[in-house]
Amino acid sequence: MPQALVRLREHLATIKSLNDTAALLGWDQRTYMPPGGAQSRGEQLATLNRLAHEMLTSPKTGELLAAINVDDLPPDSDDARLVAVVSLDYARAQKLPSEFVARFARIRPPANQAWQQARANNDWDAFAPHLQTVLELSREQAELLGYSEHIYDALLDQYERGLTTAQMTAVFDELKAGTVPLVKAIAAQNSAERDACLHGDYPEERQEQFGKYVTERFGYDWSRGRQDRTVHPFCTNFGRNDVRITTRFNPDWLSPALFGTLHETGHALYEQGIKPELSRTPLERGASLGIHESQSRLWENLVGRSHAFWSFFYPKLQETFPARLGGVDLDTFYRAVNTVHPSFIRVEADEVTYNLHILLRFELEMALLTGDLQVADLPAAWNEKMDAYLGVTPPTNTLGLLQDVHWSNGTLGYFPTYTLGNVLSVQFFDQALKEHPQIIDEMGQGQFATLLGWLQSNIYQHGRKFLPNELVRRVTGRPIDTSPYLRYLREKFGALYNLEGAA
Ligand code: ZN
Repeated sequence: MPQALVRLREHLATIKSLNDTAALLGWDQRTYMPPGGAQSRGEQLATLNRLAHEMLTSPKTGELLAAINVDDLPPDSDDARLVAVVSLDYARAQKLPSEFVARFARIRPPANQAWQQARANNDWDAFAPHLQTVLELSREQAELLGYSEHIYDALLDQYERGLTTAQMTAVFDELKAGTVPLVKAIAAQNSAERDACLHGDYPEERQEQFGKYVTERFGYDWSRGRQDRTVHPFCTNFGRNDVRITTRFNPDWLSPALFGTLHETGHALYEQGIKPELSRTPLERGASLGIHESQSRLWENLVGRSHAFWSFFYPKLQETFPARLGGVDLDTFYRAVNTVHPSFIRVEADEVTYNLHILLRFELEMALLTGDLQVADLPAAWNEKMDAYLGVTPPTNTLGLLQDVHWSNGTLGYFPTYTLGNVLSVQFFDQALKEHPQIIDEMGQGQFATLLGWLQSNIYQHGRKFLPNELVRRVTGRPIDTSPYLRYLREKFGALYNLEGAA
């Protein structure tokens, strides 16, 4: 390896260690840190983030990059791509002064702490001032980063490089046109009893045990991961050999922990599958949040809510909860886990209504950023949109705008990546099935090696080597496309709800 590359990799490895350490502190903050630690955790994270930022934006990075002749490297090699990605990161980071990065980092843990309490106490007023601060810093950040069309572009680009607000708006328009009629047709067929079997006595330890059994069969490596409890489930990592998931359990309801665990495991499989050659570089993580979410949704929904999957796992689930499920047959259970029911909580939403939750957040965030909506008017605006898109109004703010962690973490612009993930999950899965039609039969035998192997070689191993748009094209031969996703929804739920001509 040329000397210049060795030096660049060393420099990047130090930055990566600082970032991994910050992530570890972030994991601790959301799992075990006592509430009193929030203020000093903010200081610790501000220091680490500032140091990492200063190192990345230092003249040394520019010199190391300039010393490498990219034309000498094969264009698709890890090193050529590393140089390309770091050059983009470097250019973007230089737009943000270290002072700003530290200032933004410092307010997050107190904001997060305030949110946790506000959510627990249904106390919007306690969180509103923190959201105001986050909003002002997000605007400042967008202005520093720059944008050509919409202020939202600058924030979106941090999570989904290359994606614009206009493109995302077009995706939402297509999804809205495709799903709103489906939601209405289904509502006419629904009955409250449909998912009754998912509620009842589901002891927490047994839920945990079953979740572990499934994730192990998926291929999650427990020697390089662990699971803890949190208010808001997430997956984090400090390199490919330490990839952790968190879950929240509800002893009266099977779905949240079960599907939450499958979801976070999807994220974790991605991170554990990055090839070792990318370790300690900025490529040792997923390509983007949207690509990441495509993997969590693929394992959660396309695998975990499929008939084939449950034909294998349901007998085991019945054994785990004999009192509750012993008398419930497979088809009843399959219908239950695929019940479409407009509800308040995004992470618990079904596949058909999910994107409407995101659309609402996307529109509200844009309105807040442009100043068309004031923080004080947010609760009313939230409830109005819930009624317009889903036909339900949350009785409390805890079940409304206080439900998600994102704003308290200062991550405006993040939500649309969830919808992108849904769309891409089907586009990728379709491609995998085209190349290996036996994947469905294997799922019915509790086997996932072909699917995992395909994802590994086409997506996981590359980490952040390719830009999201490029990766989608390389894997599926097409740009991001909503039609496979809409077809999937119409076929699956058309059959589940006996909708005439829906397929
Ligand atoms: Zn996710």
